[in-house]
Amino acid sequence: MSALQTRLLTLSDGTTLPQLGLGVYKVDAGEAVQVIHDGLEVGYRLIDTATMYGNEPEVGKAIATSSIPREDIILTTKFWMDDLGYDNTRDACRRSIDALGVDYLDMYLIHWPAPQRDLYTESWRAMEDLRDEGLIRSIGVCNFHTHHLERIFQMARYFPTLNQVEIHPWLTQEPLSDFHQRHNVMSQAWSPLARGQILDQPDLVRIADEIGKTVPQVVIRWHLQRGYSVIPKSVKKERMAENADVFDFTLSDSQMTDIAALNRDYRTGVDPEDRN
Ligand code: NDP
Repeated sequence: MSALQTRLLTLSDGTTLPQLGLGVYKVDAGEAVQVIHDGLEVGYRLIDTATMYGNEPEVGKAIATSSIPREDIILTTKFWMDDLGYDNTRDACRRSIDALGVDYLDMYLIHWPAPQRDLYTESWRAMEDLRDEGLIRSIGVCNFHTHHLERIFQMARYFPTLNQVEIHPWLTQEPLSDFHQRHNVMSQAWSPLARGQILDQPDLVRIADEIGKTVPQVVIRWHLQRGYSVIPKSVKKERMAENADVFDFTLSDSQMTDIAALNRDYRTGVDPEDRN
């Protein structure tokens, strides 16, 4: 039961996280313990959950009952928009820590900026304080556009270490990831397989055939070679293993370019500006 070969990324606050992790959105509470145990067995050491996923207690139980020491696992959770605001964010963090049954979170994220509520900067102050108090090792955001990040930069004592956003070959988000690079914010790709919608795409099938790999493996490798952290979800152990078997090949420059050329600015989810 060894960790994946995936490299560790160092974030702007000096903490590290595995580049490849396991997402658990839409993993029912009833199956979550088994799914996490399978993921840890395959070698995943980064688990991405959220209050909204409704499985924090089971994720915590799985970690507590696995043979992997807590400190070897990077545990991420996020608070929902209804908990934006200084006091709400502090309360939400404590509720998540209790639900997960842990002493600290490795990564805590604002789930959506909900710009019309205009509360994410207040939440950021709470996140900074929670970090100072030792409840969170690293703080970041999800679904922030560049102008949301710029507002945080203006008021922050600590900058967000990562921005978890939708990225896949149909939504490459190049301007945003360039901005991240300039400001030392890690890009972490959610729905990296476009929720399975891109798996029949003919160019991806061609590249997979050329290499003798599967489409999910090609797409995950593309994310890794672009330098992103990536958190594909599967409830099936064999698919978790397939998605992690991506370290024995390299995509050529032309294959990387061909995949990026599939971009059509297609979102499987909502534009963050519109989610309030
Ligand atoms: P993904 O792009 O990871 O796709 C998951 C889908 O692909 C599932 O239907 C899964 O099915 C299927 N799948 C996975 N691997 C394979 C494979 N090898 N072959 C065939 N099908 C496969 O989508 P998600 O939306 O789940 O995104 C990943 C994670 O990102 C989430 O779980 C969550 O942690 C995070 N996320 C964060 C968001 C945010 O706002 N911050 C929003 C959305 C997601 P099956 O499980 O049956 O194998």
